[in-house]
Amino acid sequence: MFNTDCLHGGYRPENGEPRNIPIIQSTTFRYETSEDMGKLFDLEAEGYFYTRLQNPTNDMVAARICKLEGGTAAMLLSSGQAASFFSIFNIASAGDHIVSSSTIYGGTYNLFAVTMKRMGIEFTFIDPDCTEEELNDAFRPNTKALFGETIANPALAVLDIEKFARAAHSHGVPLIVDNTFATPWGCRPFEWGADIVIHSTTKYLDGHAAAVGGAIVDSGKFDWDKYADKYPGLTTPDDSYHGITYTKRFGLGGAYITKAVAQLMRDFGSTPAPMNSFLLGLGIETLPLRMERHCENARRIAEYLNSHPKIAWVRYSGLEGDKYYELARKYLPNGSCGVVSFGVAGGRAAAERFMAGLKLASIATHVADAKTCILHPASATHRQMNDAELEAAGVSADLVRLSVGLEDSEDLIADLAQALENI
Ligand code: PLP
Repeated sequence: MFNTDCLHGGYRPENGEPRNIPIIQSTTFRYETSEDMGKLFDLEAEGYFYTRLQNPTNDMVAARICKLEGGTAAMLLSSGQAASFFSIFNIASAGDHIVSSSTIYGGTYNLFAVTMKRMGIEFTFIDPDCTEEELNDAFRPNTKALFGETIANPALAVLDIEKFARAAHSHGVPLIVDNTFATPWGCRPFEWGADIVIHSTTKYLDGHAAAVGGAIVDSGKFDWDKYADKYPGLTTPDDSYHGITYTKRFGLGGAYITKAVAQLMRDFGSTPAPMNSFLLGLGIETLPLRMERHCENARRIAEYLNSHPKIAWVRYSGLEGDKYYELARKYLPNGSCGVVSFGVAGGRAAAERFMAGLKLASIATHVADAKTCILHPASATHRQMNDAELEAAGVSADLVRLSVGLEDSEDLIADLAQALENI
């Protein structure tokens, strides 16, 4: 079950072996014969030869996340950005098109709208609260995937995963969901029809702001062979890998991740350090306990802010009356997450004065770790967007994002109260 898998998933030591996931801090692995090594290069035998492609520590932690999400295969990457990029580039190339929710993390938006556009992949961004008809209208014959975030950062919109999955599947493409804010403790997108899940493990999975990292998990449910013309990279021989056809050799459960490792890791090298993967594995051990406390603290703070005269509005899907309350009850029954967005009455200037007055919550470009931090996205993570793009991303200029940590909620509320008093 979930709590047990957080502790034991991906690694069961044999007699006399270390109880913790071992850190295999080695770039290379030794073999007796060239023939042995050749089999690994041909993907005919399983094993390790060079950490840029695969490493045992990384794979054990990936297997833990795979188990938590209920997938068939998973890989770790050096960052969440790398996970977002790989998840799409593994099945799309120049001339292709992707439909994405517009309320996504600013860094992902920039990756899609600027950098991947330069690579010839075009994105259409749609309001995730649109009707099914509007969503369906965004697809084109060359669309290769639909993308969204379970809980959008920082808009905190909750994705209607079933609606998105229906649209994706009716157009014969996979739904890719960034499950960073919800974590598999809060939501398992595969159970609602998503095909691929990605994470910035830098956030709650690590939980202690210790290591930047990413993960991709495959549900194994999307039938690439049914749409073979659309996904030739998976369904026809790969000349760069000795003529292997990934779906034939590794089946629907293994093709997508094997291709991403064999081709994209080989060529882009976005490999996490084994030490970082160890820290991630350690963080995951306490994920359920931490998430429960994050959610409880955040709910209390959202209620406090909601009743404060100097707060213009509060967005927290765990708060009764929130626009996303009903979707959160469906998709996030354990609780929402630890992030609360709100506007300080008086707009941008008041928000800046308020933030400067905080003593316990620190101003940081981060969310989702043990210590409370706060950010004004319009002047930080989302500063590359103009006002119209900010609006489409659900980020108003006065929006303040509070990532509620594991401190005593009374201390956090006292800190917010004194800062609000002084503006
Ligand atoms: N996805 C989401 C939802 C994020 O919040 C972030 C980072 O904040 C990323 C992806 C990118 O992850 P990383 O910073 O680990 O590259």
